[in-house]
Amino acid sequence: MTPDLMDAGARRRAAHAQRDAGGTGRTASGGRAAAFGRPLAAGQPDFAHGVALYLEDVTVRFDGFKALNALTLSVDVGELRCIIGPNGAGKTTMMDCITGKTRPDAGRVFFGQNIDLLRLSETQIAQAGIGRKFQKPTVYESLSVLDNLELALRGDRRVRSALQSRLSGAQRDRLAEVLQLIGLAAQTSRLAGLLSHGQKQWLEIGMLLAQDPTLLLLDEPVAGMTDEETERTAELFLSLEGRHSLVVVEHDMHFVDLLTQGRRKVTVLHEGSVLAEGLLAQVQADERVVEVYLGR
Ligand code: ADP
Ligand code: MG
Repeated sequence: MTPDLMDAGARRRAAHAQRDAGGTGRTASGGRAAAFGRPLAAGQPDFAHGVALYLEDVTVRFDGFKALNALTLSVDVGELRCIIGPNGAGKTTMMDCITGKTRPDAGRVFFGQNIDLLRLSETQIAQAGIGRKFQKPTVYESLSVLDNLELALRGDRRVRSALQSRLSGAQRDRLAEVLQLIGLAAQTSRLAGLLSHGQKQWLEIGMLLAQDPTLLLLDEPVAGMTDEETERTAELFLSLEGRHSLVVVEHDMHFVDLLTQGRRKVTVLHEGSVLAEGLLAQVQADERVVEVYLGR
C-alpha cells in the first residue's frame, strides 16, 4: 500500500464515520443490506444486484502482446474468490486494471453496478473502497505495530503530527478489532521491523483493514510464509468473508484448498483470459488446466 492510497482510504473511512453519525451509513452486514431500497449518495457504489466487481472484455496490450485478452470476470458482494494461473497469466495486470494503475486498451471495469473504475484515479478508487495488498510487505519498520495501524487509520503522512493527535472512540474500537483479527494484539508495542515475515504481512493486511475496504485485492499473500502462518492467514481471510469481498491471487494450492473448503469458486487465468472456473476439484480435473498449469 502506498502512502497516497493510505490517505485515500483513511479519508473514505472518515466520510463513512460522518455518514454513520447521520444515520445513513452502512449497516453491520455491509454494503449489500445498505444498498437495498435506499437512495445512494452520489459516488457511492451500488451493490443492490449483489455484484461487487465486474470486468468485461478487458484487454491490455504491452507492445502488441496481450497481457489481458478480453477478460470477463465477476465477484459477488461478500465473496471470497481465489484466482490461480501460471506465471504471466495476467493476474497482477488484472489487479492493476482494477486499482487504476494500468489503463486497459479496451473493456469495462465496474465496482458495484454504477462505479466505472476506468474513469477514476488510483486515489479515487481507494476512496471508493478498494484496498490492495502487494506481494512485498511495506510496513514502517521503525514504528511499532500500533503506530503503523494508527497511521493507516488516519492516513496522515506527517508521522509525528498524526501520532500526536488523539483517536476517536470509534477509531480506537476499530484498531482493537483489527489487532484481534490479525493476531497481533499481544505485540502492539513491538517494532514492525522485528516481526516475522508472516506477521509483517498480517500487519499490512491490518493497515488495509483499518480503512475498512469493501473489496480487498491480495496478490500472493502467503508467499514466503511458514505452513503455520499460511494456515492462520487462511483463517483470517475466511473471517473477513461477508463483511468484505476478497480477491486472492495465489499459487499455493494447499492455501487455495484451505480457503475454498470444497465449496467456493476458483477462477483459472491463462494468457489473459479465464480458462476455467468452478470448484477447485473441478478445475484440477480439467485437462486444459492440468496442461497449462497444474501438471507442470
Ligand atoms: P501474473 O501476475 O499472472 O504472473 P502479470 O500480470 O504480471 O502475470 O503479467 C502478464 C504478462 O504481461 C507477462 O507476460 C508480463 O511479462 C507482461 N507484463 C506485465 N506488465 C508489463 C509491463 N509493464 N510491460 C510489458 N509487459 C508487461
Ligand atoms: Mg503476479
